[in-house]
Amino acid sequence: MIDVLIVGAGPNGLMLACELALAGVHPVVLERQPTPGGEPRANGLVGQVVRLLDRRGLYARLSGDGAPPSPQPAFTFGAFPLDLTMLADNPHYVLGVPQAQLEATLAARAAELGVDLRRGHEVVHLRQRPDAVEVDLADGTRLTALFLVGADGGRSVVRRIAGIEFPGVTNDRSVSRTATVTVPASFLDPETGGLLAPGYGIVPPFQHTRTPRGLIAWAPFPGRPALVSTTEWPDAASDETPMTLAELRASVARVLGVDLPLGAPDGPGLLRRLTGRNTRIAARYRAARVLLVGDAAHVHPAIGGPGLNLGLQDAANLGWKLAATVRGWAPPGLLDTYETERRPVAERVVMSTQAQSALIGPGEEITGLRALFAELLRKPEVTGHVAALMSGADVRYPADPADPLAGRSAPDLIVHGDRGAVRLAELTRTARPLLLDSTGTWAAVAAPWRDRVDVVTGPLEGTPATALLVRPDCFVAWSAGDADTLRAALTRHFGRPL
Ligand SMILES: Cc1cc2nc3c(=O)[nH]c(=O)nc-3n(C[C@H](O)[C@H](O)[C@H](O)COP(=O)(O)OP(=O)(O)OC[C@H]3O[C@@H](n4cnc5c(N)ncnc54)[C@H](O)[C@@H]3O)c2cc1C
Repeated sequence: MIDVLIVGAGPNGLMLACELALAGVHPVVLERQPTPGGEPRANGLVGQVVRLLDRRGLYARLSGDGAPPSPQPAFTFGAFPLDLTMLADNPHYVLGVPQAQLEATLAARAAELGVDLRRGHEVVHLRQRPDAVEVDLADGTRLTALFLVGADGGRSVVRRIAGIEFPGVTNDRSVSRTATVTVPASFLDPETGGLLAPGYGIVPPFQHTRTPRGLIAWAPFPGRPALVSTTEWPDAASDETPMTLAELRASVARVLGVDLPLGAPDGPGLLRRLTGRNTRIAARYRAARVLLVGDAAHVHPAIGGPGLNLGLQDAANLGWKLAATVRGWAPPGLLDTYETERRPVAERVVMSTQAQSALIGPGEEITGLRALFAELLRKPEVTGHVAALMSGADVRYPADPADPLAGRSAPDLIVHGDRGAVRLAELTRTARPLLLDSTGTWAAVAAPWRDRVDVVTGPLEGTPATALLVRPDCFVAWSAGDADTLRAALTRHFGRPL
């Protein structure tokens, strides 16, 4: 019997596979595509997920940079430029890698960890038994697993066959077009890197720009073809013929009022037209032995790029809890905290993307709303609130209100222990629960859990706490109290000592 079957080797299925393997459970991943690839999607990772990747040793592989990630000085929200330099504590990180590179890196890591990834295997049916899940593949094979996780994207077959509803809204009014392009040098602003549109002005890079007729974004990525995207709200439905560069060029001309000489880059390029927006959250993240993760659990507009921040942190939240359940030491109810903790995060992403969709929309009323919003964004507390929302830095899982750090992502602290000064991000690569103990007095309390919880002793720099219990997903389980509250937190998260 397989312990955990993961359906889908997209980024979230692969991340979950790595998390399970780190926790000592070796999943089988079934992916219907015979080879990696497919249509380009994400251009980058946005928010606290960048810190999570650092905490798994994946940030350096993706960025090619030995330095830890640092916050981004600027970003965009609802086609407003966000000046994040005004924040004393900027939580907004960005890692500009294409989704294909992320998936290749996660697949390589999964292989190192011994994950059994089977490409060219399509799941067509499943049946739940009291003790297991049976899965039928398109080639007639049947597999049986203790648990099955649907990481099979927004159109999840697993979700449908498990009988989980997917309520929400589909807005069919917008048409977004994206293409890889070349632009003559005379149409580029050497100072800002923006697009020079004669008669309109400069379209700044890596921002959304709203005009009375639509939205445009210009993304001159270093080392790869630049992208131009537009969004419009036409009266008539758009046609279903394949997108062309001429169609994008006409759309740019409508949005900016200027015809720009956009050309096609050498080699394979991207031409994409998306009609409408889908915003939905699964009615349940779990049906008995079937769970959902990533886009299978929630879909929303891609504006601001929150998808992977949400999905990869879902996977990190689920991984250790599912592994603990399979290995038999999970306390009662632990697996259900996956949904109680992560659903509110998805709801905030939905709120953020719907608010942004409204702010970029057409019409004089929206123009008025934007003028007010622009005034509000000059206040650091408003920009700070928006940055916390977009990055997910405001996430706090249910926890003891008297404990200021519990339920929050662990701070980027440094432990001065036997190995010298070590960043927390280096200690969390094993994904084992950690007790950081600056006084040497707490380690004895955690001793009965030593098979599950590692203890690191030494002064802590970067936090006022004298000790922290850090979960495998790098959220704080306990940071203040006495031996009894620490023991309670250990039991609540990691079960009774053996
Ligand atoms: C145009 C666009 C731009 C985006 N830009 C960004 C961005 O900049 N930043 C960001 O964070 N997010 C972005 N996103 C969102 C991001 O791409 C998704 O959130 C992400 O791909 C979800 O990953 P996943 O693993 O949950 O699902 P998917 O990536 O959809 O992977 C699902 C996998 O399951 C496989 N599968 C499906 N059914 C079966 C089956 N029956 N049997 C076996 N295998 C199956 C599929 O082949 C696929 O490989 C964007 C999305 C779009 C559409």
